[in-house]
Amino acid sequence: MPGNMSSSDKISQVRRLCHQRCFSSCVEDKRQGRHVDLLRQRPHWSVLKREEQIQRIDQGEKVPFDISLPLPARDERGGSDAGVGLFWERFQCRQCGRCCYTPGAGLYLDKEDFERIAGRVGKKKLRALCRYDKALQAWVLRQPCPFYDQDEGCSIYEIRPLTCTKYPLHPPLPEMPYNLAVDAFCPAARALAKDTLGWWIICENNWAAMLHQLDHDQNIFCSFM
Ligand code: SF4
Ligand code: SF4
Repeated sequence: MPGNMSSSDKISQVRRLCHQRCFSSCVEDKRQGRHVDLLRQRPHWSVLKREEQIQRIDQGEKVPFDISLPLPARDERGGSDAGVGLFWERFQCRQCGRCCYTPGAGLYLDKEDFERIAGRVGKKKLRALCRYDKALQAWVLRQPCPFYDQDEGCSIYEIRPLTCTKYPLHPPLPEMPYNLAVDAFCPAARALAKDTLGWWIICENNWAAMLHQLDHDQNIFCSFM
């Protein structure tokens, strides 16, 4: 192990190790509410700066950004879905339809999406509801979504595009690559982000323990040089 790692290198290393080693246990700790005792034991920003955090999260109603959640992103190598599983357990869609009727850049359809939906509405009609993106070679559903009905909601719900089934989950933020991220535009995602601020204490405890271990290993390495 290199003996001259910078602080930011160490933190990146610790987060990566944590994602590999703790993704199941930390999710279970959060599911069991173990953060509550930890928050009683020591001051934490999620309590001390709660109002500030809430105001920041609420900006998502007007300003587009993503929020990182204290849940591990899917681990491709380990195949763990623990973080995603707890996300869907706790996420409560408000059926507000904002993600469907808000004008935006459009909703990309992959090949399977296109064929599946075309099988219901017909290729000609679906093409008329889309534009073709030459660069990506994909059909893009116009927004506001033509399948959204003010009274009934999504008229193709069972066969909706894959992207819709995953919303409000977005790809992890570059600065937090091992954590799930959500679109702050979604009110239910914002509510979940506020409710889970205290969960960060479990992540931070795990990071601190690993940092301690990393420093210990580094000292041993240096003593042999
Ligand atoms: S914006 Fe969020 S809460 Fe509203 S319908 Fe979409 S997923 Fe549900
Ligand atoms: S296909 Fe359905 S779920 Fe997806 S944006 Fe349109 S109305 Fe919403």
